[in-house]
Amino acid sequence: MTCRELIRLVTDYLEGALSESDGRRFETHLAGCEGCTAFLQQLRTTLRLVGRLGVESVPPAMERTLLHAFREWKSA
Ligand SMILES: [Zn+2]
Repeated sequence: MTCRELIRLVTDYLEGALSESDGRRFETHLAGCEGCTAFLQQLRTTLRLVGRLGVESVPPAMERTLLHAFREWKSA
C-alpha cells in the first residue's frame, strides 16, 4: 500500500468499514510509516474537534491539503 492509497482508505478505516485484508494492509503500512502515523493522529484529533465523520470519503480539495501537509511531515 502506498501513502496515497492509505489516505484514500483512511475514512473507511476510521469507520471500521475496511475489509479484513485492506485493514491488515493499512495497519502494515502504518506500522512502517511515520508520516502516515502522524497523519492518522492528526486526522483523529481533527475529527474529535469536528465531532464526527460527516463525509463518505476525503474530498479532493482536502486530499490535496493532506498530501501537501504529508510531504512536509515526510521531509521534516
Ligand atoms: Zn505512508
